[in-house]
Parts: sequence; C-alpha cells; structure tokens
Amino acid sequence: MDNIVLNVRSVDDKKVTDHHALIITENPAKDISGDDKTIYEMVAGRMLEAFSQKCVKDATTIALTCGDTVFETKGSTMKQTGWRAVFNEKEEKDDEESNLPNLSEGEQLPVLQAYVLEKQTKPKPLHTEASLLSAMESAGKEVENEAEREAMKESGIGTPATRAAIIETLFARDYIRREKKSLLPTDKGLAVYDIVKDKRIADVAMTGNWENALAKIESGEMDTNTFRQATEVYTRQITTELLNTSIAVTDNNACDCPKCKSGKVIFYPKVAKCNNADCGLMVFRNRSEKELSDKQITDLLATGKTAVIKGFKSKGGKSFDAALKFDADYNVVFDFPEKKGKK
Ligand SMILES: [Zn+2]
Repeated sequence: MDNIVLNVRSVDDKKVTDHHALIITENPAKDISGDDKTIYEMVAGRMLEAFSQKCVKDATTIALTCGDTVFETKGSTMKQTGWRAVFNEKEEKDDEESNLPNLSEGEQLPVLQAYVLEKQTKPKPLHTEASLLSAMESAGKEVENEAEREAMKESGIGTPATRAAIIETLFARDYIRREKKSLLPTDKGLAVYDIVKDKRIADVAMTGNWENALAKIESGEMDTNTFRQATEVYTRQITTELLNTSIAVTDNNACDCPKCKSGKVIFYPKVAKCNNADCGLMVFRNRSEKELSDKQITDLLATGKTAVIKGFKSKGGKSFDAALKFDADYNVVFDFPEKKGKK
C-alpha cells in the first residue's frame, strides 16, 4: 500500500456509539508517536484488512489409527495471504503445523515411541466486562444440545445495542460487582442464580431462539401471530414455574418472626425481613448511620430489645448511645437508657 496515512475520526463527531466503526480520514497523521501511533496503526490496519482480499489456505487433516484410538493432526499451506499481509501476521503454530509429510490413504506407519503426557487444565479466568460482552455474543457455542446450538449460531444474548445495558442492569440490581477489572457475582446474584438456573426463564437457547424468530419476522419468513402465540404459551409457563418456586431458607440466621409468629425473618445484606408476605416485618440494618450486626438483630427479634448500642449519629451529627426495641406495631424505635441520679 502506498502512503495511505490518514487521520482517525468517528463517523459522528459528537456521539460515538457501539454501532459505529472507526475509520481513517484523508488527513495524513503527522508527528504522532508512541501510544498514539500504535492506536492509529491498529485502526488503519484493521480498515485495510476489512477491504483486503480473502486469505486462502489449503487445510489438511490426517487421522491416524493406533489400536482403538484415533490420533489427529492438522496442517495448512498458504495459497494467498490476502488480508493477513496487512500486518504480515503469522498464525500461531503455523510453522509447525504446515509441515505435514506426504502421506497416502491406508498407509501403514511404524510407531516409534509412545508415552503418556500428563497435563492439567487451568480454570477459566474471571469474566471482565469485555469478555462477558463477547461471551454474550457467542452464547450459542456453550449450548450443549447440538440442534439448539445450530439454531443459535447466528445469535447470542441480546443485540450489540442492548448487551452493555444488560450488564449495567446486573450492577444496578447488585447481582455482580467489580473487583479491579474482574466481575464477581454477589451473594444476592448467586441466590437468584440458584433459583432460576434450571428454569426456562434462564434457558440461553430460548433467548437465542427469540432473536432468531425476530430476525425471521424481519425477513418475512415467520408471521407475527405464530410468534405472539408461542410467546403467550412461554410467558404462561415461566410465570407458573416462578410462582411455584419455593425459596429455600438455607440461612442459619433465620429467626422466628415475633410479629406474625408463623413466618421466618430472613437476613439480607441491607434488611432483615419476614418471609410471610402478609406480615411485613422489616428491620433495616442501617440505623442512624450505624450498621446493625446479625447478633443485634437476632436479640431484637428474640427478646424485643437489643443491648445498648454505642455510636448512633443524630441528624445534627451528634453521637449517642441507645438500645433498640419494637414498639406495639413492631416498628424499630430507640430505647434510651435512663440516666441514674436524675429525675
Ligand atoms: Zn412475620
């Protein structure tokens, strides 16, 4: 390529969204170095690759049978470099794999050496936002059923425009959190996952099938009524399934509810709450800038009162000590220690 050195700009000068490609402009990029130059060359190179010829290779797979075991080896020979010439990239392992000997079918080969190679696989690393985005895009690959995997080949979870918003929702609902670049599920996220993981609502293939169906409606291959009817059936099924879900109480902290006497009070990160929907008993952890411990809430539930807790802060910023107790309606109220020697 001769001297196509151009500036980079996004298509819309003000708003850059995930739909726009970065393209280079007709203005030569002068006097750039270091990181700027690297980034510029990545963008320019990718653009040249996109407009280049295909890369053509001859690929060979050899299957060798020894006893009952089939061994496979692959090799390839470059016929036309095409887009790979832009960065003159060599594919990894290329050198080794290309050099397959000339063999003909049915040929017998001597076994020169045999030994067992013991290896360990590393667990997959934690997801980052970038890896999660691409995992959503290619979610179909993880589907075990072959037919469903085929159906999902063209679709993942969400669309390019909605995937980022889906991840934001996971943050907003406190299902995942960031630790440096990694994403970690929260206790709440894991609890929700445990409940829905085997349910139809969490079926990745279903989501993919929807995307397929929507694409077919767009291209006129499917009629909207068929889709709507199927969606109605599906909606009924998932709702029934979810309503029949009983949330297993595994939390040892759960206490008998003093108000309705029939429910259990479940401890959550921000609140302890009776699981009897008609009861409504709730104890918030945060009280006048103090976080209540499980022990303090347990005392309150079991005896109606806590010991004196130090370090509450009044609205005016003044620190004070008090016990907490339930009033007649099971609202949590302060119980101030009586001061001795004063009337
Ligand atoms: Zn209750």
